[in-house]
Amino acid sequence: MKRKSICAGMAFVAFFQLNSCLNKPEKNISDDIMKVYVQDPHSYARPNEAAIEHLKLDIKVDFENKKVSGICDLSYIKSAKAKSIVLDTKSLNIHEITYSDGTVANYQLHEEDPILGAALEITLPHDNQNIRIVYESSNRAEALQWLSPQQTAGKKYPFLFTQSQAILARSWIPLQDSPGVRFTYEARVQVPTGMMALMSAENPQNIQNDGVYHFEMPQPIPSYLMCLAVGNIDFAPVGSRTGVYAEPSVLDEAHEEFNEMDEMLAIAEKLYDEYRWGRYDLLVLPPSFPFGGMENPRITFATPTILAGDKSLVSLVAHELAHSWSGNLVTNATWNDFWLNEGFTVYFEHRIMEALKGKEYADMLSALSLQGLREEVAAFIKSGKSEDTKLKLDLAGRNPDDGVTAIAYDKGYYFLRYLESYVGREKFDDFLKDYFDKFAFKTNYTEAFIPYVQRELFEKNGLEPIPDLKEWIYDTGLPKTLPAVHSTRFAKVDEAVSAWKKGQYQINTSDWSSHEWVYFITQLPEERSSGDLEKLDNMFHFTRSGNAEILGVWFVLVAQNLYEPAFPAMKQFLIHTGRRKFLMPIYTALLKTQKGQALAKEIYAQARPNYHFVAVNSLDVLLR
Ligand SMILES: [Zn+2]
Repeated sequence: MKRKSICAGMAFVAFFQLNSCLNKPEKNISDDIMKVYVQDPHSYARPNEAAIEHLKLDIKVDFENKKVSGICDLSYIKSAKAKSIVLDTKSLNIHEITYSDGTVANYQLHEEDPILGAALEITLPHDNQNIRIVYESSNRAEALQWLSPQQTAGKKYPFLFTQSQAILARSWIPLQDSPGVRFTYEARVQVPTGMMALMSAENPQNIQNDGVYHFEMPQPIPSYLMCLAVGNIDFAPVGSRTGVYAEPSVLDEAHEEFNEMDEMLAIAEKLYDEYRWGRYDLLVLPPSFPFGGMENPRITFATPTILAGDKSLVSLVAHELAHSWSGNLVTNATWNDFWLNEGFTVYFEHRIMEALKGKEYADMLSALSLQGLREEVAAFIKSGKSEDTKLKLDLAGRNPDDGVTAIAYDKGYYFLRYLESYVGREKFDDFLKDYFDKFAFKTNYTEAFIPYVQRELFEKNGLEPIPDLKEWIYDTGLPKTLPAVHSTRFAKVDEAVSAWKKGQYQINTSDWSSHEWVYFITQLPEERSSGDLEKLDNMFHFTRSGNAEILGVWFVLVAQNLYEPAFPAMKQFLIHTGRRKFLMPIYTALLKTQKGQALAKEIYAQARPNYHFVAVNSLDVLLR
């Protein structure tokens, strides 16, 4: 897609009110949908006065000094009375700010807050000249993870990747770092020769000899979807619109694992209409990536821990792909509305997996989702944090990463399942299709969603609204109307678990997927003797499993019960895997005993340099 097809030159009012970024005919949008930006507690920006519209980056990636430096040219739209534009920055070194005619701009870099960073307030010129910021990132840039060659699969080249969500984009680019503010961008990126650069944009498929890459992102995106990866990366196409990037030694395995991507994309489009981002590619990162995946538009970043060899963990790809609609296309206005991104995405992910692998398979995912939700709600309530079990969060003054819990994902998902069961799947699908279309390239927030769903889902279908709509969103804990889920495949695992508990060890596991194994392990009593674990391990070889999900739950049992024969493998896993989802439960289990505590600290001291900031941030609280 070319830039002319998007709304770069729109008038200020239209920016808020119209749907004109779409190629489709405009539809009327009702009044309760935002016409102004919602106040975002995690950004200093004042987009109602002046909002960035387009970024032009010219940056150099310097591995030796671990910094990104260069120029950020900003175009913006402003209200008539705006005197300045406010950007978010965090630990950036600002060298110079000028207008496009070369005049030096007045600016003030305010005091830095430990969570939010520092506001950069730039006086606007009288005409609409662009603003040029010459800057560099510092060694405290939280979005950037610099890996030594030793930390990569190939061991020859270093690697850089970014993780901008939730509010870390400001640590490598000066911008308005709020999910409510969308902009287009282009970039010129200089990297060392022999390396490829990738961004959330139109991407190269070959390494450029001069190390210079050009990117264009013609669709407006929020800042948290800005990304960059640089490494010795190779590409292999999967279908005409999809492909896989990875280090050369990982590429074949990754390509094999993800060869259903094209099919998934077709399923997703069949469910909720056109994919609007051009290509959909996936980059497999080195193991220190802190998340399972990150839905950077056009280029999902994924952990190598989903390379299981049997496609058993590809629901993660379905999840990131689903974000191309929920999250990337229709975006939560603030991180307090995170459930609008994630709850919708988990719902969509399960629908893709149901179409791809059947209902019994999707039921396992739903059952695991419910199990995780119940556990997390119980843990929040036990630790006196029941406020965090509300769908609508209040994260002001806190790190928005605190909202990355099963509440947004799984309670959000079950809320949508409840709506679906109430109105029927057909009507619910129509509602969702329409929702993604009406809000395409826009934001939504909880208080606008409530009247919208009342009108568009219930009234339109001649139905009374569900009586507990607001309880679902604003109450703590789990509602009485939480849908039940039955998994026939897990019912068989339940039988196996009872047999095992009675000492009947001959159980038929021949057709089990990794989901059954994960479920099996988590259904075993937490307290086991070391002898029990030895028996399990001898029969099922968990310690030697190549499947990270199985290892993730197995090592929790290992840690809790101090099953020493598995310690070396657990240690390796903790050192080489940076995915927070696995790290947190294992370290937490280790901390339950004195011996485990000592081991946890010893391993963490060694592993910490391998982890990304977002994992370190959580683990420091746990372990220090
Ligand atoms: Zn997600």
